Amino acid sequence: MTSSVLTSPVATITGSRPTLHNSPASVQLRNLTAVFGSNQVVKGIDLDIAGGEFFSLLGPSGCGKTTTLRMIAGLEQAAAGSILIDGSPVQQLPAHKRPVHTVFQNYALFPHLTVAENVAFGLKERREPRKAIEERVAAMLEIVELDGKGHLRPRELSGGMQQRVALARSLVLGPRVLLLDEPLGALDLRMRRAMQVFLKQVQHQLAITFVYVTHDQEEAFAMSDRVGLMNDGQLEQVGAPTEIYRRPATRFAAGFVGESNTLTAQATAAEEGRYHLEIDGVGSGYVAGAPGESGTVTAILRPESVSLGDGDRDGDDDFAVTGMVQDVAFLGARTSVRVGIPGDTVLIADLPSHLLPEGIRVGASTRAFWSARDVWAVNR
Ligand code: ATP
Repeated sequence: MTSSVLTSPVATITGSRPTLHNSPASVQLRNLTAVFGSNQVVKGIDLDIAGGEFFSLLGPSGCGKTTTLRMIAGLEQAAAGSILIDGSPVQQLPAHKRPVHTVFQNYALFPHLTVAENVAFGLKERREPRKAIEERVAAMLEIVELDGKGHLRPRELSGGMQQRVALARSLVLGPRVLLLDEPLGALDLRMRRAMQVFLKQVQHQLAITFVYVTHDQEEAFAMSDRVGLMNDGQLEQVGAPTEIYRRPATRFAAGFVGESNTLTAQATAAEEGRYHLEIDGVGSGYVAGAPGESGTVTAILRPESVSLGDGDRDGDDDFAVTGMVQDVAFLGARTSVRVGIPGDTVLIADLPSHLLPEGIRVGASTRAFWSARDVWAVNR
C-alpha cells in the first residue's frame, strides 16, 4: 500500500473479502433488564439485530446504552431477560467464551508493545501457530491501512491510527459480533468523520455484525443500517435513520434526532396514520403521523421544510403564518433563520444560502409557509 494511503485515514478498501473471521451472527435481546442497587437502568429491552447488520444504540448520556452493550459482551450481569447470539443463549458463558469482542473509546493498547505485537496479543494468548499469527496480523494491518507501521509503538501514532490498531486487535480474533462503545469519542471532528467512513467500509468488507454505541446522532446516522434510539432504559424507536428522522415515533425522538419545530395542533384521525390537522392561526391540512388518539397532538416540522418570503404560491403552502425575523445565521452552504410567530413561538427555517429570499434580515416581517406533506404528527 502506498504512503499516501497511510497518511490518510480515509482510503477505499479494495480487494476480495479476507477469510479472517466466521460468518456474522444475529443478536436477540429479550426483556433484557439491568439493575444497579434500586435503580433499573435497562428496562426490559426487546431487540433483533440481523447478522451482518451495522446497528447503533443511540441516546443521551445515562440512558443505558453502555450497560446494554456490556451485558451482550458478558461484562455486566443481566438482572432479567435473555441474550441470544445466532439463536443460542449466552448468559451462562463468561465474556471470553462469547463470539463477540469489544472496542472501547480508550484504545487500551499496550504501550510497550509494537503495533504488530498489540494486534498479535490475543492470538498468542490462544497459542495459535507463530506463522499463522504473522500472516493474520499482516493481513489485518493491511485492512486497517497500517501496513508498514507494525514496528512502531502506539505513542508514535495519531489517535485515529491508535483506534485502528485497537480495531485490528479485535477483528483479528474473528468475532462474529463486534461491540463498539463510543470508539471515536476521543478523536477530533475531522478524524472522527474519516474514521466513520473507514469503519463503515471495514464492516462492509468483513461483513461482521457491528453493535455500536454513541450519543452522537450524526455519527449513528452516517454509519448504521438501523438505529435503536434509547431513552431512560427503554427503546424509544428502532428503524433506519431516514425512518427515525422523517417518522419519529415520539416527541423525544423528534427532538433528539436533528432539529425540529414542534407546534401544538388539533387533530382528527382520518384513517390509520393520517390526521386532519388544524394549527391555530396557521392553517389546516391532511398530514401523516404516528397512529393514535386524536385531539391535541404535536406537529413536527423539520427546519428544511419551511419556506420564507412570498413564495410561488403553487398550492404547496397548506400552512402559512406571518412573523418577524429574530435571527439570521449564515452557516456557509445553509442559512438558519429564526422567525417569531404568534403564540410566543419561534419557527426555525433552514434554507440553502443561495435561495435565501431578499429582505430576510433581523426585524423584517416575513411569511413562513410549508406543505402538509412535510408535517408529521405525534401524540406522545
Ligand atoms: P453514557 O453515554 O454517558 O456512557 P449510557 O447511555 O451508556 O451513558 P450507562 O453507562 O449504561 O448509560 O448508564 C446507565 C445508568 O446506569 C446511569 O445512570 C449510570 O450512572 C448507571 N450505572 C452504570 N454503571 C453503573 C454501575 N457499575 N454501578 C451503578 N450505576 C451504574
